[in-house]
Amino acid sequence: MSIAEERIERLFEIAEEKASDNRQDLADRYVELARKIGMKAQQPIPAEWKRRYCGDCGAFLTPGKNCRVRINSKREQKIYTCENCGNIQRYGLKQGEEEK
Ligand SMILES: [Zn+2]
Repeated sequence: MSIAEERIERLFEIAEEKASDNRQDLADRYVELARKIGMKAQQPIPAEWKRRYCGDCGAFLTPGKNCRVRINSKREQKIYTCENCGNIQRYGLKQGEEEK
């Protein structure tokens, strides 16, 4: 694991803590930081965290709080709707990869 990867991991962990403390503003800041580090180091965001923020407005997403998760079993997709901006993100159920 690279240093950038570790830092990104840690920042998302903190973001999750802040979100559960109802500090959405701080959670969003940590997401922003993690994404900046990823961009600078050309380190992709790990798949399990990639679905935890909105690619559009950058909000840290907590299912049931500011994010709706639906499962389309026919297409084997998980559909995340950001309730902050309405952006929809789809992920495959199997590989956890983003589908366009
Ligand atoms: Zn959004």
